[in-house]
Amino acid sequence: MTTLFITHEDCRLHEMVEGHPESPGRLEAIDIALRSAPWYNQLTHFSATPISREQVAAIHSRSYVDDIWHAQPGDGLTRIDPDTSMNRHSLRAARLAAGAGIYAVQEVMNARANNAFCAVRPPGHHAESLIGMGFCLFNSIALAAEQALQTGAERVAILDFDVHHGNGTVEIFLDRPEVLVCSSFQHPFYPGRFDDVERPNICLTPLAEGTDSSEFRTAIERDWSKALQQHRPDLVLISAGFDAHREDPLAGCNLEDEDYSWVTGFIRDQALALCDGRIVSMLEGGYNLDALARSAARHVEALL
Ligand SMILES: [Zn+2]
Repeated sequence: MTTLFITHEDCRLHEMVEGHPESPGRLEAIDIALRSAPWYNQLTHFSATPISREQVAAIHSRSYVDDIWHAQPGDGLTRIDPDTSMNRHSLRAARLAAGAGIYAVQEVMNARANNAFCAVRPPGHHAESLIGMGFCLFNSIALAAEQALQTGAERVAILDFDVHHGNGTVEIFLDRPEVLVCSSFQHPFYPGRFDDVERPNICLTPLAEGTDSSEFRTAIERDWSKALQQHRPDLVLISAGFDAHREDPLAGCNLEDEDYSWVTGFIRDQALALCDGRIVSMLEGGYNLDALARSAARHVEALL
């Protein structure tokens, strides 16, 4: 298997208020964990290139894209929502984050790699077509899905195991039957948007606070196997958030490191059966640096 590891050091220049949990240290922690893994040299490394304004407008409204392009401050911060702000590096970081996914899709769809993990920030799955929110500016996983559809894929699936609901991804693809969106999330919980919609292509898996390994695995197997087999995607995309971990400070689920090996292995097996194993995974949440680093390493190891 060829697994791409895509990142860019400038994704660490995006910083919000002091002490914000979505910090540059997240990418540093993942980098350190992966470098110490015995399989690190088996990864194929690539440095992301930024997405263009036109490409972002494929899924976000022109007015929102223009607002973000002009929101960048010289010094200090521009607030996007109560949890999300931009410094002078944020636009470039968001463009690189989305660009990583676009590149990954091109490489995987053209069989130059089997799968890919993009270690990028800011995350994306809360960004809706008209608004950024919840630490997210551009919906990178949705842009990656759009790229796949524009370049040959007939159907794609997005699997989101972040502890927060991927409201932006659901909103963007609500009436796009060629995109299956499966999201598992603590409920009731942030952001409380688009978490009760009913569409054949939207598969919602709410999880009670305190959900543990066995409850999580049962729910994912029950909901995602059937949805994937019915949809028969040409590519599987993953919104890989690691904040359902029991050590995460922002949420109340109780997953362990091994659950990220398990869920990645589950997705890998489904993708092997349905689409020659084509997977593009992108980092979303995960805010305890140690747990994030260990969990992301488990995820990448299972992709390899
Ligand atoms: Zn999250």
